[in-house]
Amino acid sequence: MEQGNRAVLVTGSTSGIGLAIARRYAALGYDVALHSFAAEAEVADLLASVAEGAAGRVRYLRADLSDPVESQALVPAAIAALGRLDILVNNAGIQKVAPVEAFPVADWDRILAVSLDSAFHAIRAALPGMVERGWGRIINIASAHGLRASPFKSAYVATKHAVVGLTKSVALEVAEKGVTVNAICPGYVWTPLVARQVADQARVHGLSEDEVVRTIFLGPQPTKAFVQPEEIAELCIYLSGDMARSITGSAISIDGGWTAK
Ligand code: NAD
Repeated sequence: MEQGNRAVLVTGSTSGIGLAIARRYAALGYDVALHSFAAEAEVADLLASVAEGAAGRVRYLRADLSDPVESQALVPAAIAALGRLDILVNNAGIQKVAPVEAFPVADWDRILAVSLDSAFHAIRAALPGMVERGWGRIINIASAHGLRASPFKSAYVATKHAVVGLTKSVALEVAEKGVTVNAICPGYVWTPLVARQVADQARVHGLSEDEVVRTIFLGPQPTKAFVQPEEIAELCIYLSGDMARSITGSAISIDGGWTAK
């Protein structure tokens, strides 16, 4: 099968990294299902912009991944919309910055559900078809925080480490089945998720917002530059190709040198 005819679901793809990934697959002719928890009418303009010039199908699926029932229904809905699912990109993720003793339990539960449980539910539902066809790609967007810790991000760091572990375990289970399973571990990427943290980080660290960008976000990245969402999208395309068949169970850093330290 030509790469461009393959069907891909990108979770959390109405914003930031997920949107860049979905746009790139669509531009290359893949059949693409975008997803978020917003109603379709709210993202109509964005969907039209992704569909413009796309040779393949572009569909939209709504599911709140903090709800286990909706989360488990997402991949079956993608298979119904696209006819099959060859590539699954588990990208949806959320963040909360607070000291662990003051970490709201509801936020802990929500972060685990959206950033970790959703990947488990999606993988379970996507794998049987991939294994049956002898070809598949699962790409989990983890984080440099899947390999390193930072203070005040206990739930995020815990889920991202868990996503790396889930990636490795599933990769071993299907290693002989033509299905690769990898994690991408980006450093800081300027997206709404990072922009929303600036005020929280300023408060818990007692810094100005400018200092937060300079020291918290760009401090750990030796390049002193944000990663661009398009760089992550291009890595997904590479991992989706047949030449990437031997890359599996990997946690691939794209972090400006952060984890080299
Ligand atoms: P973002 O906030 O811009 O986008 C998140 C997406 O997830 C949106 O489409 C949103 O609608 C969706 N989403 C959030 N909660 C949801 C829910 N309950 N149900 C369904 N969809 C939901 O975030 P981003 O910065 O593009 O991050 C994308 C992924 O990349 C996340 O997993 C994040 O942890 C990871 N990441 C981001 C950075 C960074 O610096 N931005 C770095 C490393 C890893």
